Amino acid sequence: GGEYSEIIVSTPNGIVPIGKNHPTVVVAGPCSVENKTMIVETAKQIKASGAKFLRGGAYKPRTSPYAFQGYGESALELLSIAKQETGLGIITEVMDAGDLDKIKEVADIIQIGARNMQNFSLLRKVGSQDKPILLKRGIAATINEWLMAAEYILAAGNPNVILCERGIRTFDTKYTRNTLDLSVIPVLRSLTHLPIMVDPSHGTGKADYVPAMATAAVAAGTDSLMIEVHPNPAKALSDGIQSLTPVKFNNLMHKIFVIDQTI
Ligand code: PEP
Ligand code: MN
Repeated sequence: GGEYSEIIVSTPNGIVPIGKNHPTVVVAGPCSVENKTMIVETAKQIKASGAKFLRGGAYKPRTSPYAFQGYGESALELLSIAKQETGLGIITEVMDAGDLDKIKEVADIIQIGARNMQNFSLLRKVGSQDKPILLKRGIAATINEWLMAAEYILAAGNPNVILCERGIRTFDTKYTRNTLDLSVIPVLRSLTHLPIMVDPSHGTGKADYVPAMATAAVAAGTDSLMIEVHPNPAKALSDGIQSLTPVKFNNLMHKIFVIDQTI
């Protein structure tokens, strides 16, 4: 325990440090990039509320092969437009190593999703390039398995890994999609120097529960948050139920700011 590191990410708006005693860094945006208007408008709104990074899926890891899979390369182009318009950093998921080069052209942080946490060849590939990696916890991964997955990236030569708690699968899925494990915040702090992110959107699966878990995570000492935000959640192509509107996101950002000042 004790010392933990910061990761310095450069974005068009400037350098954003994640970790140590820096203010909570907030990543926000839709589950999937759907069209130019929605991604650019969402980016402008979350920026005005204080987010430093825009998230948006281009390649989506969907349970069903018949569900919307993301718009792929054209979504990456829309993320690039949103980046130019706002200067926000970009986070998006890689599922296939073959897409890495084009993802790297727009992403400032590359996401490894929960379902690929133990895709060891993909971990080695993202470990041997220099963009920071957001490593989501596998849907039923132990803390040790998660840390060993991070170790694959570190061992391949990339020291910039952020660990993202996004809920784990437990016995009750009636009221929440996953069980958000906030106890990992102090546990990880005692085990690793790596910065921590918490994703209460996938962690709860319901927009109404997101603010309570987001503020709790900040109070517990997370370094960063990932919040799904959609201009019209009822019409979202994926994860609308857990997405905040930009107005609700703005209200949450005020609370986060107050807790950040207090702890
Ligand atoms: C996502 O961030 O949209 C996502 C698919 O997350 P996870 O891998 O945590 O399910
Ligand atoms: Mn999602």
